[in-house]
Amino acid sequence: MPVEFPYKPYGTQLAFMGRVIATLDRGRRQGRSHALLESPTGTGKSLSLLCAALAWQRHYPLRAPPAPAAADPLLYGGGFVPDDTQQQQPTPGVPEKAAAAAKKKNAPTIYYATRTHSQITQVVRELRKTSYRVRMAILASRKHYCVNKTACMADSIDEECKRLLDDKVQGCPEFKNAQKLSRHPSLQTGGSYEVHDIEDLLRVGRQVKGCPYFAAQTMAEAAQLVFCPYNYLISPIVRRAMDINIAGSIVILDEAHNIEDIARDSGSVDVDEESLNSLKEELAKLATDQAVGKIYQPLHDIIEGLSTWISAQEGDPRDNEFDNPPSFWTGENAVKELQKAGITPAYFPILQECATKAVKAASDTESEGDHLTGRGAMTLESLFSSLSHFFGRNGRHLYDYQLAIQRFAHREGTSAFGVRNVMSLWCLNPAVVFQDIADLTHSVILTSGTLSPMGSFASELGVQFDACMEAPHVIDADSQVFASVLSSGPTTHRLNASYKTADAYSFQDELGASIEEICRIVPGGALVFFPSYKLLDKLKVRWSQTGQWARLNARKPVFVEPRGSTEELEPVLNGYYNAILGKVPLKKGRGGAKQIVKNRVRKNSSQESAKGGAAFLAVCRGKVSEGIDFSDDNARVVVSFIFIVICLKEFSVKFCTSIQ
Ligand code: SF4
Repeated sequence: MPVEFPYKPYGTQLAFMGRVIATLDRGRRQGRSHALLESPTGTGKSLSLLCAALAWQRHYPLRAPPAPAAADPLLYGGGFVPDDTQQQQPTPGVPEKAAAAAKKKNAPTIYYATRTHSQITQVVRELRKTSYRVRMAILASRKHYCVNKTACMADSIDEECKRLLDDKVQGCPEFKNAQKLSRHPSLQTGGSYEVHDIEDLLRVGRQVKGCPYFAAQTMAEAAQLVFCPYNYLISPIVRRAMDINIAGSIVILDEAHNIEDIARDSGSVDVDEESLNSLKEELAKLATDQAVGKIYQPLHDIIEGLSTWISAQEGDPRDNEFDNPPSFWTGENAVKELQKAGITPAYFPILQECATKAVKAASDTESEGDHLTGRGAMTLESLFSSLSHFFGRNGRHLYDYQLAIQRFAHREGTSAFGVRNVMSLWCLNPAVVFQDIADLTHSVILTSGTLSPMGSFASELGVQFDACMEAPHVIDADSQVFASVLSSGPTTHRLNASYKTADAYSFQDELGASIEEICRIVPGGALVFFPSYKLLDKLKVRWSQTGQWARLNARKPVFVEPRGSTEELEPVLNGYYNAILGKVPLKKGRGGAKQIVKNRVRKNSSQESAKGGAAFLAVCRGKVSEGIDFSDDNARVVVSFIFIVICLKEFSVKFCTSIQ
C-alpha cells in the first residue's frame, strides 16, 4: 500500500505504520482487530498514525482483502512488506465519481481521540504536514465552541444554551446560522480551513455569526476523520448525546496509558439525593401529561423508589463509613437492594427505553412540548448508563460493580448538623466499558509512550490485541542524550528532597543554585519537574527572599505551571515558547493589545554567559508532564527528582512501573 509520508521515515515509524495497516487489514478480514502500539514520545507517533490510517482509508474500497498469510506484515517480523510501488488502479468500468461515492460510503470513519483539546490542536498540526485531505470535524464542548455572548457569560453555558434554544422568542441567532458555517467555502475541499482546528472554526463562526458547536456536529456526520477528546467515545452517554456512531469505525486513542481510569469512570455514577429529588419533581410534572405520561411515570416511580431506599439507609454520619458494612453491596446483594427501589433485571429494559426517550426529547433541539431540563436529563442519563452496564451481558458484570451509599456530614447554618447522601454505582473493571467499544468497532488502536507491561494492560481492558509493539527511540542514545544523576550542587551540599530534608534552607538554596547553574550552561528551554505544588511553592518563597528567584530569571525568564485549569496553562506556555524564540511582551499596543517584539540579547554583565531560552517549573504528573509538545529548543534539558520506590513483593509489576 502506498503511504504518503511527508519525510523520509525512520525505521520505527515504518514499523509503526506497518502495524497500523496490518491491524486494519486484519480487521477487514476478521470483522475486527485491535492494536496496542507503544512508541516513545517524540518518535512521530501521531504523524505515523494519521498517514497510515488515512492511506488505508483512501485505498479501502479499491483493495481486495489481502490473502491471510501473504500480505500480513506481522508475519514478516513486523516491518513493511516491500512495496511494489504500483499505485492501485480504480476498478475498470467504474466511473470516478461512483468510485468516490463508494469510498465515502464504505470506508470506515476514523475517530482520533486525545486526552485534551490542546492535544487535538497538536495532531491537527501534524495533519497539515501530510498530503491527505479528507472531510474532517472536531467535536468539542460548548465551553470551547460557544460564540453567543449571553451564553458565554452564564455560569453554565450548557444550561444557558438549552434555555435559549427553548425560548422561541429570544432564541440563539448563531444556532440558526450553524448550517451556514458548516457549509462555509473556507471549510470545504480546497478552502483555507479545509484542515482546521478549534480556533479556526471559532474564527469563521464569528465571521458568519454561526454556532461552531452545532456546525461541528453536522460536519462530523459526513466526516471521514473526526477528532475529539476520549470521553466522547468512551462514554456511551456522550456518544448518544453527540450522535456519535462508532459502529464499524476505526478508533485511535492517542496517549492512552490512563484509558483504564477513564473507562472505569465512564461506567460509574455518583448521584446525590438533591439531584434525585429535583429529577423526581420534574418527572412528576411531566407524568401528568397524558400524551407522554407512560414514558415519565415509570421513571418517576423508580427515582422515588431510589430516594426512599437511600433515606432508609441513613445512619450516623459521624460513623466511619468504612466500618459500616451495610452501605456497600456487590453482585446479587446489590441486585436485591436495587429491587427495593423497584429496579429489577426483568423490568430494566422497559425503564431503559423510557429513559432513552426522555433524554432524547431533552437533547433534541427541534423537540416540541415539555421535557426534562438539561440537568435532569444528565442525572437520568448518567444513572441509566451505569445501570445498563451493571445489568448488561446477562448479568455477567454484576460482580464488577459496587453499589454504595456515601454519607457526608456538613454544617447547616451555624449549629445544625446535616447529612448529604450520595448513591454510587462504581465500576471496578475497565473491561466492562472497553469491551463494548472493542466489539462495536472495526479497530481500536491504542498508542502511547508508556503502555508496558502490555500483557497486564491488555488483560485489564479484557480485549484481545492482535498487534502489540514496543518501538525503540529514534535518537541515538549514546551520542544525542546525556543523562546524569546530580546528588550535590555547586557547594557540594547533598541534594536530598526527602520529607525530612526538603524544608531545610540548605537543601533549598543548593537546589536553586544548581538549577541556576544548569540554566547558565544549557541553551534553549529548561523543564524542571518538582514532586509537588507544595514544594514548588515553598521554593518560590525561599528563592524570592534570598534573591535566587531574580538570579534564575536573569539566566532564563522563569515560567511556572499554574495550579488551576488547563485553560490557564495555555497563555503561560505561549509565553514560554515565545521567550525561547526570543520574543517578549514589552509594551501594550493600541487598544491594550500586547505587542510581541524581538528580544535582542539582554545586555547585562551578569548575563554574559546566559544561553537565552526560558525555564519552565512544573510538577510531576501535572498538566505539563504529558501530552505537550516540547520539541527541539523547547526542551534542551529536563531536570526531575528521582523517586526511589521500595518494591514490596506483593506489589504488581504494573503498580511499581506506574509509580516510577
Ligand atoms: S446554539 Fe451555539 S452559539 Fe448558541 S448558545 Fe448554544 S452553543 Fe452557544
